Amino acid sequence: MTVKPKVAFYWCASCGGCEETVVDLGARVLDVVAAVDIVFWPCALDFKTADLAALADGAISVAFVNGAVRTSEQAHMAELLRRKAACVIAFGACACHGGIPALANLTSRERILQRSYHASPTVDNPAGTEPRESTTIDGHRLNLPAFADTVHKLSDVIAVDYSMPGCPPTPDNLWQAVNLILTGKLPPRGAVLGSVKSLCSSCPRNDSRPDDPTIPKIRRLIDVVVDPATCLLAQGLVCMGPATRDGCGARCIEGNMPCTGCYGPAADVQDQGARMVSALGTILQNDAGDQGTAALDDPAGTFYRYTMAASLLGAERKDV
Ligand code: SF4
Ligand code: SF4
Repeated sequence: MTVKPKVAFYWCASCGGCEETVVDLGARVLDVVAAVDIVFWPCALDFKTADLAALADGAISVAFVNGAVRTSEQAHMAELLRRKAACVIAFGACACHGGIPALANLTSRERILQRSYHASPTVDNPAGTEPRESTTIDGHRLNLPAFADTVHKLSDVIAVDYSMPGCPPTPDNLWQAVNLILTGKLPPRGAVLGSVKSLCSSCPRNDSRPDDPTIPKIRRLIDVVVDPATCLLAQGLVCMGPATRDGCGARCIEGNMPCTGCYGPAADVQDQGARMVSALGTILQNDAGDQGTAALDDPAGTFYRYTMAASLLGAERKDV
């Protein structure tokens, strides 16, 4: 009998979208199930941590781990999966670059707790209770994971063999990765399983992309009736295409929406936000002045929406 490769799926700090990508394989998920032995997928099947711990070290062929890492439980599970898996794939934007959860590095742990348990308008907490790592009730001790100061990308915590960006990666991206695994054609370790080009390279609007200082000002989406055929940058909208890795099939552009950069930096880009600022600097008119960027009211959230934990600004939280 042929021994099937063992595969695990796990999520850390994420929204669940990456897990949906697995389900969104549709009928192809039956081919995956036939070809591999899923030994750990607590989001969908009733596996316990003890089941994972009981496996021999290195017994899992490939572990797909999505989500950023903030709590002690997430760090522990990442380390356990690293020990049990011969190959770990950082699956999705949060695992690869910190994703949306890493925007929390712009504030502090204390401010998050203050807002969530005291100041939020919908909170009713007259006793001022906050979660504690350990508490005793009726003689029973209850433990919660520690909540760290900083959100990390997966490769800050464990060695990662491959990365698959995207928020989430498309089912086709996953299908291609599964086939690379099954056919033994994975590229050298450390590679990103994806395109080396920028999104603009495959965008149907690339012909109208400006490369001179022709844009008088950045405009907000709400202020524009968007032309469905013209480059969104040419319309004054912040489209992260020049700084973003190709591979999604230009999903947002097809929906007449600017790219927000979820596939992370393109292969030749070290810092996605810095590259995008540079791209905008190239196309904004020289005399645009402050008005040129006045509509840009959330620069960090615009340029580093998915990559704060991997940015040159630094993964570590700064006091603000
Ligand atoms: S900036 Fe956006 S709309 Fe313009 S070519 Fe690039 S991906 Fe397409
Ligand atoms: S267009 Fe940009 S934001 Fe939209 S799915 Fe593709 S990479 Fe992500």
